[in-house]
Amino acid sequence: MTTAPLQLFNTRTRRKEDFVPLQPGKVGVYACGPTVYHFAHIGNMRSYLFGDLLRRTLARAKYDVQHVMNVTDVGHLQSDADDGEDKMMLAMRREGKSPWDIARFYEEAFFKDCARLEILKPQVVCRATDHIADMIAMIETLLQKGYAYYGGEGGNVYFDTQKFSAYRDFARLVDDPNACARVEEDSHKRNPSDFVLWFTLAGSKYPNQVMQWDSPFGRGFPGWHIECSAMAMKYLGERIDIHLGGIDHIPVHHTNEIAQSECCTGQQWVNYWLHNEFLLLDQGKMSKSAGDFLTVQKLIDDGYRPMHYRYLCLTAHYRKKLKFSYESLDHARAAYDTLCHKAEEYREKRIVPQKTLRSQVTVDKIDAHMRSDLGSPWALSVLWDAVRSEDINPGEKLFIMEAADSALGLGGLQLDRPELTPAQQDLLTQRDAARRAKDWAQSDALRAQLAALGIGLKDRPEGSGWYIADATLFHSQEGRKP
Ligand code: AMP
Ligand code: ZN
Repeated sequence: MTTAPLQLFNTRTRRKEDFVPLQPGKVGVYACGPTVYHFAHIGNMRSYLFGDLLRRTLARAKYDVQHVMNVTDVGHLQSDADDGEDKMMLAMRREGKSPWDIARFYEEAFFKDCARLEILKPQVVCRATDHIADMIAMIETLLQKGYAYYGGEGGNVYFDTQKFSAYRDFARLVDDPNACARVEEDSHKRNPSDFVLWFTLAGSKYPNQVMQWDSPFGRGFPGWHIECSAMAMKYLGERIDIHLGGIDHIPVHHTNEIAQSECCTGQQWVNYWLHNEFLLLDQGKMSKSAGDFLTVQKLIDDGYRPMHYRYLCLTAHYRKKLKFSYESLDHARAAYDTLCHKAEEYREKRIVPQKTLRSQVTVDKIDAHMRSDLGSPWALSVLWDAVRSEDINPGEKLFIMEAADSALGLGGLQLDRPELTPAQQDLLTQRDAARRAKDWAQSDALRAQLAALGIGLKDRPEGSGWYIADATLFHSQEGRKP
């Protein structure tokens, strides 16, 4: 086991810091999840791949990780500030379906993409629409403490940014002179940077909002930012170790989350804030509104495996911009497929993974790179040096490859790995939960259930790695394409 310290770049301090959890051995992680009004694009998926690398790294460092992610199915307006219409309403008009149906459809599509990319499912996935009461309770606390106010007839409930003196500190860390300036003009606000906690039907510019609830402040719907604060607190408590999101969330969404949460509890909320940089296209940003965005499915239709995209993301550090091109995806495909061929060749020869001092030292180096602010490109190069080395024998190489698979999520290094159905995926998630809870009877029962479906398990720190143990059983399941 490697002893390298776990270091993470903390946006709060703009420094790489040793990670110290609130409670020894345990880590609570909150990740801002998808807004389910459309398919996630591959840029969004880069954000969740980064979260998955953190989760694996923490688990391999023997932390018990509680990973919570929200699903935004109401309240996220066209702009991250309070401007525009709820994205769910846009989707409703685009597709002629109810926003509830739209949310479920894209939530399922999102988790399917996650599974295809070997992103481990968070232990808690919480939908905003299931937590309206928690948000209302938090807004009531903010009102009672004087940090929030009602903007009067035709207004909404706002957070008073003047009352939180540290409001601009977090965003200033990214040297953005316009931080917090992207706010909508609204005469009901006391200060231009105040943001909405609860949209009343009269205060919202879009009174045809279909998703609406009663509240002590009038019928309406929650603002996007309060969703994350309320759900993170519900599942992780008043203080949390790590909060994740894309870099675009720093100036508005996370700044607002901090303001609400810290004013609510009177203490620092999050110890480590981690943000991923963007995936860019040659022509700049991907835009869902313009409809010109790449999805995991599009890459599959173009003849790639989702793992090729995951591998491409691993080749760039999460805090560096990554420019996407099909050429770079081709390079990733060639490299990933070569690794798979190697691993398959060893397995066919019935070579057994061999733990020796030499193979363990190599694995320790991979872990050390990951523990140094998730240095996946350097972890990959250690893997490649080992695979190419003439001094390391095949058994040792297979041992190193399996550890790299656990640390980096390399899809079992299997060329013909099929997709799991959501039901099979759920069984895996349940099995991991049982194992984590040390409920061995349930864990064994689920292992047997998976075995009956032809799925074998490799127990690992980050959760179960799976493989096809019996192809006949796996392919004979009802409804599965041969
Ligand atoms: P959304 O579903 O729009 O709320 O975004 C989901 C996540 O994807 C957020 O954490 C965003 O910061 C992140 N994100 C959005 N666009 C990109 C991109 N091009 N590259 C990387 N992350 C992104
Ligand atoms: Zn959030």
